[in-house]
Amino acid sequence: MRADVVSLTERLVSVDTAPGCATRAFVHDLAAQLRADGAHVGVQAGSLDGLAQGNLVARFGGDGEAGLVLAGHLDTVPWNASQRATITPERDARRLYGRGTCDMKGALAAQWEAVVERADKLRRPVLLAWTWGEEVGCHGAKALTAEPELLGPIQEAVALVGEPTDLRAITAHKGYLILRIELHGEPAHSSDPWAGVDASVGLAILLRDLHELRESLRREGEEHGDARHQPPGTTLNTGLVQAGSARNIVPERAELIVELRPVAEQDGAELRRRVDACVELACASVPGLRATLHEVEDNPAFAQPHEHRLVQWLQERLGSPPGAVPFYTEAELYRRGFHLPVVVCGPGSIANAHRVDESVSFDELAAGQALYGDALEAFCG
Ligand SMILES: [Zn+2]
Repeated sequence: MRADVVSLTERLVSVDTAPGCATRAFVHDLAAQLRADGAHVGVQAGSLDGLAQGNLVARFGGDGEAGLVLAGHLDTVPWNASQRATITPERDARRLYGRGTCDMKGALAAQWEAVVERADKLRRPVLLAWTWGEEVGCHGAKALTAEPELLGPIQEAVALVGEPTDLRAITAHKGYLILRIELHGEPAHSSDPWAGVDASVGLAILLRDLHELRESLRREGEEHGDARHQPPGTTLNTGLVQAGSARNIVPERAELIVELRPVAEQDGAELRRRVDACVELACASVPGLRATLHEVEDNPAFAQPHEHRLVQWLQERLGSPPGAVPFYTEAELYRRGFHLPVVVCGPGSIANAHRVDESVSFDELAAGQALYGDALEAFCG
């Protein structure tokens, strides 16, 4: 007999896919199970820090134009044995506790069950597209969108990403841009500070100007940002700051990590120019100071137009208008990379994700399976 969605979630949770784990063997294992369920399955090999990873694409219903792509990620955030949410899932009062139950192996199980339930009645193919390394930079999704042919014909498909949204339809979230700024000065003995080029002074000027930029972005957001976001505009944070190497040496080096979360309306090139201007001013203020700027990560903001029938179908099915979330997902990568309409919609609440007692309720999983089933009927039936 086939497992139900709760036991299938337990099975997925019981394999460790936290950062630092190789997952390719697990992916091949899943591929074998999905083949047994009737899918044509491809595995795209990847690797990170020497660990073998893999994306999985399972196609049910033949090689014609697909109607629906159900997407998700296989990895989880870290866990440890002292927490309640581990890879040994625990049932308690119709909730399932465990790492990845909510974010988002529960959604994968709901997608899988929904597809298998209807696999022999499909008029158009459906795909499961499950990726690795989402929590540490959407690595799998970036690799998969670089080879869209692995999915076969999907020009007419729509996609749902199963992140935990309490089964609300999400059509917008901010982007995620990380910059590392290095300031290079000249060391000197601290007894003669004027003999060197003090990178910490450049850092102080840079911090002041970046915080002025932050306030400008805030005002701009309040005037014409997206009111569905809180706060409504692009944000900037200087989360990691470091300078100098010893108390008796003039700091020859400083480093700053800047995180920007741009709204979709923000012009990315213009935003970069404004950061660059702050860096140039810091260098001009400290003779001899040089700067290098590295882009650590650049993930675009997500904005799915509401005119599409996928959004309208969800609005009708769920009885509520589409909304926005404050966390990053793979949605915009898929929207741009596969040229598909994409909505983020999955069981469970983000409030229960990434927690030491991460959990999802049995009812949430069942509702997720039902929604994906209805989507299959609407787009592949
Ligand atoms: Zn997630």
